[in-house]
Amino acid sequence: MAKKKYLIIGQGIAGSVLALEMYHRKMDFVVVDQPKLSSSSKIAAGVVNPVVLKRLKMVQGAENFLDHSESFYKLWQNNLQSEFYHQIPICHLFWDQESQNNWMEKSANLPFSRFLGVVNPKSPRFFNPEYGFGKMKETSWMDTFKFLNQVRQYLKKEGRLEELEIEWKNLKNLKEKHQASEIIICNGHLLKEQGSYSQLFSATRGELLTIRSSDIPEDVIFHAGVFILPIGNKHFKVGATYHWDNLRDEPSEDGKTKLIKQLEKMFSGNYEIVKHEAGVRPNTQDRKPLLGKKDGHYIFNGLGSRGVLMAPYLANILVDNLEKGLPIPKEYDIKRFFD
Ligand SMILES: Cc1cc2nc3c(=O)[nH]c(=O)nc-3n(C[C@H](O)[C@H](O)[C@H](O)COP(=O)(O)OP(=O)(O)OC[C@H]3O[C@@H](n4cnc5c(N)ncnc54)[C@H](O)[C@@H]3O)c2cc1C
Repeated sequence: MAKKKYLIIGQGIAGSVLALEMYHRKMDFVVVDQPKLSSSSKIAAGVVNPVVLKRLKMVQGAENFLDHSESFYKLWQNNLQSEFYHQIPICHLFWDQESQNNWMEKSANLPFSRFLGVVNPKSPRFFNPEYGFGKMKETSWMDTFKFLNQVRQYLKKEGRLEELEIEWKNLKNLKEKHQASEIIICNGHLLKEQGSYSQLFSATRGELLTIRSSDIPEDVIFHAGVFILPIGNKHFKVGATYHWDNLRDEPSEDGKTKLIKQLEKMFSGNYEIVKHEAGVRPNTQDRKPLLGKKDGHYIFNGLGSRGVLMAPYLANILVDNLEKGLPIPKEYDIKRFFD
């Protein structure tokens, strides 16, 4: 029987991870992407953290997501001979004794004991929360910009990438042109602009600053409301905000003011702002991913605020569904919105 050929639309984290998974399984596919369009993957901070620090709760399905993402990115880092995935602890700073106690209590039992490490009662120099910090285990940072570039080069070299903005009404023609058996749409928040898909989303604009400072250690991520993430050469990403209006990639004065306020609440050292960016997260109404077939084509979307963590596990599920007919778990299946 002839191999099925798949047409992937979009080369953000979803489309890239799916393409690599297909490559790994020796499947036939081509990716169509217009890099000038909105992409939150390009500006994402890239933090991989299975715990919601604000509420000290596990991300649902976190352990599955984490186990897949680690092995996936390490494998592809090796295959692409690049370094884009870095293990780095997150230090969560405490504003009061109660938060410190809560951390200690939770870290004594599973599943938290895998991720919440020791408490250091002394806060680092220039950091304002006075009750020290808890250090996380098994957290990472992915340089998403570098990852996407590496994947793009790879796909180009393999002749599997076409740069084109697709129009929804031309999907059928495109499928015929590429002689594809199935289309998988991985177009991030732009999916909400297509008719009935709009009701599935509660997308959020997020803003980030890049700062330069000599007063911040470069071997950990600090978190206290916002995070301060070292990206090398005394540069740090600071973020992120959540806005439900103006769902575009343009950063706002309001976002900048909020970030500066939160940064200066937690940190009193010197810094200068180098860059200010914004993107739109593809959050869904129920905060869960969107996978599966609808109106004759497949969707891989809804990665929300944790695309790096979730994409490899979800791509695996989707490919198992496409190739082996295995079911998509109900909580991720796009059908939940339409049945
Ligand atoms: C400020 C901010 C901080 C974030 N921080 C983190 C973080 O620390 N960790 C984390 O895991 N996640 C983070 N995220 C979330 C992360 O960015 C998303 O989960 C993820 O990038 C979504 O990827 P995607 O591939 O679904 O969509 P996108 O990245 O939006 O990719 C969609 C792709 O489809 C292409 N496309 C769209 N329409 C068409 C068309 N018509 N024709 C051709 N191509 C098309 C676009 O060009 C783009 O390449 C953050 C997001 C923001 C905004």
